[in-house]
Amino acid sequence: MDLVTGEPLALDLLNTLTDEYDALDDVQPWLELQAGRLTAPSLPLTDTDLAAVRALREHVRAAVDAVRQGRSPAEESIEAVNQAVRAAPPYRILKADLGAVTRRDGDERARLLAQLAEAAVELLTGPDVGRIRACEGPRCRMLFVAGHPRRRWCSPALCGNRVRVARHYQRRRGGGSDAG
Ligand SMILES: [Zn+2]
Repeated sequence: MDLVTGEPLALDLLNTLTDEYDALDDVQPWLELQAGRLTAPSLPLTDTDLAAVRALREHVRAAVDAVRQGRSPAEESIEAVNQAVRAAPPYRILKADLGAVTRRDGDERARLLAQLAEAAVELLTGPDVGRIRACEGPRCRMLFVAGHPRRRWCSPALCGNRVRVARHYQRRRGGGSDAG
């Protein structure tokens, strides 16, 4: 299984689900990859926690799909995202050394969901939303933000390479007298 990360957190969340696997089934490696921008729960996620993450993921997917098609997200998706944010709102507290640290209300599951939901708010309201594309690789539907207009793959090493290899064999098969 190829964990593709490094897109905005909300897209990384959507990319946990492909035709072949759901990275949330074994969520720990994914959480570890996201450690720089996501505070993971200290306890392993239960099935109920994961169901909540999956439900949020589907709402974020619906919202992103809608926006990519030039529509407004459905009210229920917006409500689901906002509800997750409101369940564990962040606040900043002052430390003795005059540093500040961000904490959140809510239990650990609520905190995880709130961070993911906030990432969706950030993506959907930010400058990247108009540049979200789906990978053109065969059987791949990873989403990414196209930093330049010609970007076509989620990862040149994965899908870009797969397509190059497929083309190579196609050329050899259909390639006339000098083939095989
Ligand atoms: Zn791809």
